[in-house]
Amino acid sequence: MNGVKNSKLVQSINRLAVLKAIRDHGQLSKTELCEATGLSHPTVAAIVEGLCREGFVDDAGYGNSSGGRKPAIFEFNPRARYIIGVDFKRDNVVLGVADLAASIIERRTIDNLPNVEAVADGIAALVEELGRERIVSIGVGARGFIDDHTGSLQWIANTRKTNIPLKELLEKRTGCDVFIDHNYNLAALGERNFGAGRKARDLIYINVGTGISAGLIINGHIYRGRLGQAGEFGHTVVDINGSPCECGRKGCLESLVSGAALARAAVEALQRGDKSKLADITEGNLSRISGVHVIECAEKGDSLCLELSRRAGEILGAGIINLINLFNPEMIIVGGSLIRPGGVLMKTLAETVDRDADRATRQDFKLVASELGGDAVLIGVATLVLEDWLQLTLEGVN
Ligand SMILES: [Zn+2]
Repeated sequence: MNGVKNSKLVQSINRLAVLKAIRDHGQLSKTELCEATGLSHPTVAAIVEGLCREGFVDDAGYGNSSGGRKPAIFEFNPRARYIIGVDFKRDNVVLGVADLAASIIERRTIDNLPNVEAVADGIAALVEELGRERIVSIGVGARGFIDDHTGSLQWIANTRKTNIPLKELLEKRTGCDVFIDHNYNLAALGERNFGAGRKARDLIYINVGTGISAGLIINGHIYRGRLGQAGEFGHTVVDINGSPCECGRKGCLESLVSGAALARAAVEALQRGDKSKLADITEGNLSRISGVHVIECAEKGDSLCLELSRRAGEILGAGIINLINLFNPEMIIVGGSLIRPGGVLMKTLAETVDRDADRATRQDFKLVASELGGDAVLIGVATLVLEDWLQLTLEGVN
């Protein structure tokens, strides 16, 4: 029995080695595959035939010959299977389809967020269109408290819905495997592998939007903490006498720098009589002012918004220096709806860190803006699934 098991394991490892070699090199002949994997010609031929049959590998014509017959060339087919990413943003849900190269090939937005059934309907329709058998799995980037064991969400984004059995609901509706993680963890992973992270071993991704959160990558892996709730950077206190925060304490980073905090500070200034383009944009309806409006007006030179953005950059800088001192990361990537590469907030943030961070910890340290922007979570889902899937193909051999 063990002999059968071992021979299956060897076959699986060989199959994975061939698949990885074709994927990493783009196009290879069988002879080149033998050289890349160290396997014999008959073994490679049998594996390639199986992979072609399953659609993972395509015949790509013939290569050049140095004498004799031209060799047949094979290439990886990233569209053989798909991964569905689900990104719960504050006001909507973005569904993305990624191929096996982690490229996003389709995006759809579902606006009626409080209705989780509508989100499940959208995902189920997508699964139906793509073909259930072609989906590797579905990954969800969510906000709120996630129960690691059951995949339940304590609440979703800005709704007050509680204890939503999201994993169970989606698995029942689609028949696919579903996993749920915090969207900032997934964004960190996406940036690390396909964005600004450049495979750094230790990095932190900070999302600056409606709230503030941090995805920690330590030693190449997401650090989630004991209950999976690590990364609540927005609720670290930077001013014990500061504004009240919704968590019940005072002076949390989120109560001073987030989109809601920027909007609140802008409204207070306007009510005191300050002049700003913000009043025109919102036609005098101050309740419509958002943090993104403040950032956009700052880019247009509005003096109130410039001042608020600079102040936000300085406070966030102080918070980030705390992170640098705690974790000594290689880089910190800053993304989210309030971040514009080269914008005032980002510039002030970089200046603050450069000026105030300890010389020893900031040696070779990089502070950069996100490269993946709004796609970071979807690409993070694809990264996590692919890492797993390449190992699982070990079991896929017949
Ligand atoms: Zn707080």
